[in-house]
Amino acid sequence: MSYELAGAVDSRHTLAHPLLAALDVGGTKIAGGLADRDGRLLHQVQLPTPARAGAREVLGAVDQVLDQLARHPLWASVRAVGIGSAGPVNIQAGTVSPVNIPAWRAFPLRSEVAAHRAVDGLPVALGGDAVAMTAAEHWRGAARDHRNALCLVVSTGVGAGLVIDGSLHTGPSGNAGHLGHISVDLDGRPCPCGSRGCLEGLASGTAITRTALEGGWQPAGQDTSAGAVAAAARAGHPAARHAFDRAAQALAAGIAATATLVEIDAAVVGGGVAKAGDVLFDPLRRHLATYAALPFVAHLTVVPARLGTDAGLIGAAALALPLLVSPTVAAGR
Ligand SMILES: [Zn+2]
Repeated sequence: MSYELAGAVDSRHTLAHPLLAALDVGGTKIAGGLADRDGRLLHQVQLPTPARAGAREVLGAVDQVLDQLARHPLWASVRAVGIGSAGPVNIQAGTVSPVNIPAWRAFPLRSEVAAHRAVDGLPVALGGDAVAMTAAEHWRGAARDHRNALCLVVSTGVGAGLVIDGSLHTGPSGNAGHLGHISVDLDGRPCPCGSRGCLEGLASGTAITRTALEGGWQPAGQDTSAGAVAAAARAGHPAARHAFDRAAQALAAGIAATATLVEIDAAVVGGGVAKAGDVLFDPLRRHLATYAALPFVAHLTVVPARLGTDAGLIGAAALALPLLVSPTVAAGR
């Protein structure tokens, strides 16, 4: 897949207008893009992730995406590269250990990308995918007007990132704000992470489907996705409505806890489950009114993410933006 904005190569994008290359590495696809300093995507490519393959083969797909980007005339203007990767990540070490790519454990993705023949010499930034989405929504999306925000990706898992005092807050290893694995149920079921009662175990798409099925919901066909549960909830099915209500309650507790800790004023919710719209957001706002009770968090608003599927690439570009402004400082990252 390859496409561009209308008008082919824009003559404004000369060397005087440096560009950013972006990589969005997930368990399903590896996307690449070229973006300008305003976060506009000018060119995109995408390949499927050979997620079950060996470490070098997965890297080969990343190399192919970079090769395809480098063939574009605008590549000559690229001055920094940003990577948003499925996590956990370690931005100090420059490594990634994506849950859905088993061959990559502490895989040195940042140095491998930096060593790509077309990247050679350019500074490279690495971040987790939820943190990248947070950067994107803060740069160009629903968190743009908020100096303190929590951005969540609710899909098969629950990821999140923080904007504090107008800046992305990654934490030392790059995983700060990982809301999916705070416990909201003291005696809840064990979580694969080792804890119990994690928010993700109640609010992810997977959890919503499980709660609905346990409550007696039966899918019309083969589709047991959270989207199918959302459609049933919209039609009034009690078990489907309960599943979304339970997920919304867990999200509300986590969002309220975050607001109480660091005084965010907005929570931006994206990811596939957020496509349920009011089926999720109505109970979420209702529960939030219960959990965010203290006066200093009572103004907290919950809004849907704005950037959709482009958030990964725009966010990866956002991670590289500081390298463009200050390459000498950034070289140590
Ligand atoms: Zn957990």
